[in-house]
Parts: sequence; structure tokens; C-alpha cells
Amino acid sequence: MPQCLSASVPTLAVVKPKVRGFVCVTAHPTGCAANVREQIAHVQSQPPLTRGPKKVLIIGASTGYGLSSRIVAAFGARAATFGVFFERPTDKGRPASAGWYNSTAFEQAAHADGLYAKSINGDAFSEDIKLQTIARLKEDLGPVDLVIYSLASPRRTDPRSGEVYKSVLKPTGAPFTGRTLDTDKKEVFDLTIEPATDEEIRQTTKVMGGEDWELWIDALRHHNLLAPGAITVAYSYIGPEGTYPIYRNGTIGIAKEHLEATAARLTAKLKDLGGKAWVSVNKAVVTQASSAIPVVPLYLCILLKVMAEKKVDEGCIEQIQRLFATQLYRADGQGATADSAGRLRVDDWEMRTDIQDEVKKIWPEVTTTNLDTLTAFPRYQQEFLKLFGFGLPGVNYDAEVELDVPLA
Ligand code: NAD
Repeated sequence: MPQCLSASVPTLAVVKPKVRGFVCVTAHPTGCAANVREQIAHVQSQPPLTRGPKKVLIIGASTGYGLSSRIVAAFGARAATFGVFFERPTDKGRPASAGWYNSTAFEQAAHADGLYAKSINGDAFSEDIKLQTIARLKEDLGPVDLVIYSLASPRRTDPRSGEVYKSVLKPTGAPFTGRTLDTDKKEVFDLTIEPATDEEIRQTTKVMGGEDWELWIDALRHHNLLAPGAITVAYSYIGPEGTYPIYRNGTIGIAKEHLEATAARLTAKLKDLGGKAWVSVNKAVVTQASSAIPVVPLYLCILLKVMAEKKVDEGCIEQIQRLFATQLYRADGQGATADSAGRLRVDDWEMRTDIQDEVKKIWPEVTTTNLDTLTAFPRYQQEFLKLFGFGLPGVNYDAEVELDVPLA
């Protein structure tokens, strides 16, 4: 067969959601762009961050909390942003991943508004991507005044030893039995998970703890790429007691403790620069990462309902806007207020007693049959599909769309 025939792969297609377990394996380019535009519009509806950051590096910039951090920095503070992420471009007629389309849409919107926005797609845990980022920052921006660390990953290759660490979501110490939800099959059932081994705890901490965050900050510092007074922020979660066995006291919680301890170490390292490392404890939201954690989707279905009823519901963009405006970059120039462990808390509304009392009341009542009425399951599903660009108003999902959207 002549080569030119086999090489032509269509890049126009109608894209529909294909959900497999807790992931959607397709993403809609114009839907993802509409999602990004919605977030930009939210930020633009808020007072500008007059004391906001000027040059920002976001590691994990393409989805969830990292994407929202990039949008708030760019459109709230008019900061130049450099994003690092690990996403899949379109290949053999298949759509790219949602984070790819989010990032192309973000860059287009930023450039149209006269803002600097560049990105690197690759493994942020590797030395190569750190060095590439450093070279690009040196060329384009110089020292940054904010570094957001927002990676969520199931594995990490050690840049020195080459060992591949895998993170697991398991309890520690004793087995956990609790109610959970299969969001794809729409089934509520009891689940027992055996406790992690010491080796699994070690590996999860290697992936989701603070080691890589510290490597990034050390590398940036070494190359004089941190401006005087620079701050760095990583994100954590605590949640209510009902999720403790699987989250805070589980393997991921141990990794988060390591992340929190790393913040104190980094703050000491940044002292002579007048800099600081923060951990911000954010609220539970529907993201690709949170949908993979047992028990959390059921909690989220209940939480979404209770917080919406009390009119305090927030997604990633509202959370990060509040973090920047009321903590990190206050208009009155005052500093942030930390909790007794030195962490910033924007999970304060989620953790309010009236909210958690209501969640506790609903939780034992939920079954497969009453899921739609006792919880906000339909909203959870909407939010989940929205992560992949589906269900956005104004998008024609029956029309063919261009799948091949390049990064700038
Ligand atoms: P997410 O899955 O939406 O985003 C993860 C990001 O990491 C993406 O940009 C992805 O491209 C990037 N990434 C993953 N592996 C990478 C690699 N090897 N190299 C480069 N980039 C890589 O996740 P999220 O839910 O926004 O989580 C971000 C952080 O926020 C995590 O630390 C998480 O624990 C924390 N957090 C999440 C929640 C929640 O409910 N989702 C709540 C509080 C805190």
C-alpha cells in the first residue's frame, strides 16, 4: 500500500464520553475550552488581585487545582504563567486528554489577553523536565515569585535510582470496611480493604509526599530562579472522620503528612530569600484524582448536596480564588492566617459543624435506590463529565471537532 494512504489519520471527529470505571477515556476539545472559559469568567467577576503574583510556575497545571491556580494567577493577577503537566496529545485519531485541551485553551485565552503563558508536557518527576523548565524560565521569565505544586499521580520514577514507586489508596494498621459507591455502575455497597504493607506506605509517600516538591525548589534555588520573597504552595486534604481510615490515616494521609513536614523544611531553606512554603488544605472536589479514591465519591455526592443547600458550595476555581484573595495575596497587604499546624485552610466551609452534622446524618441512610434523592449523585456525574469537556452549555456535541489542537 502506498505510504501516503496509511499515514493519513482523520483529525476531525464527533466525540462522545466513554467512561471506564472512574475515568473517561475521551475528552472534548471545545467542551474543555468552554470549561476553561467558565473558570476565567469566574475569576474576572471577582475583584482583581492587585497584590498578586507576577511570575508563576505551576507544576501539575492542566487539570483540577493546578489548572485553577494557573487561571487565578493569570486572569486575577495578570501574572505570567509557566505550566508543567503530563498529558496525552491526540494520537491515531483518538482525542487528546482533557488536560491537554484545557492547556491549549488556557494558552489561547491568555495570549489573546496579552499574557505570557507557556508550558512543558512531560514527567515532572524526572530530572530532564526539571532542567528543561529551568532552561525555559531562564530564557523567558527569570526568577518566579510563586511556585504551585499540584501533582496527583499513581506512580513516580525516582530520578536518581530509576526505581518506580506506586501509590496505593489503602488503610494502614487494620482492614477498613465501609460504604462506598461505584460511580460508573451507580451502586452503593460495603467494601473491605486490607491494610497497606510498610513497603506500600513507603512507596505512596515517595509518590505523593514532599520529596519531589523539595527537589523542584532546590533546583530552582540552585539556578537563582526564585525571586526575593518567593512563596511555594502545595495542596493537601484532611476531610471528616468518616473518611479518616481511607484518607487521613491511610497511605495517602501519611504521604500528606510528609508533604506538610516538607513545607517546614522548605520554609527554613527559603528564609534568607524572605520566602515561605505553605501547604493549603483544600476542600474535597470532583477531579480525576479524587474520583479514584474509594469512599470519597460517595462522600462527595453527599457533600455537594449539603453545601449547595447551604449555599456555600465551591469548586476548584472558587477555592483557589478564595485562597489567593483572602490568604496569600490580600488586598490589605496583611499576611495569611495559618492553623495551629502552620497550614492554610480553605476547607473551612466543608469542615463546618453544621455541614458535617448533616453529612453524618445522611451517610448511613444512602443506598443504591435512594442515591439520586438523598445525595447529589446527578450533580456528581455532571461535574465528572465536565472534567472531560462534556455537558457544557453552548457546545454542539453532535458536530465534528478538530482533535489536533497544538500547544503554543
Ligand atoms: P488532578 O488529577 O486534577 O491533577 C493532577 C495534575 O498533575 C495534572 O495537571 C496532571 O497532568 C499532573 N501530573 C500527574 N502526574 C504528572 C507527572 N508525572 N508529571 C507532570 N505532571 C503530572 O488532581 P487534583 O485533584 O487537582 O490534585 C492536585 C493536588 O490537590 C493533589 O496534591 C491533591 O492531593 C490535592 N487535593 C485534592 C483535593 C480533591 O478533592 N481533588 C482536595 C484537596 C487537595
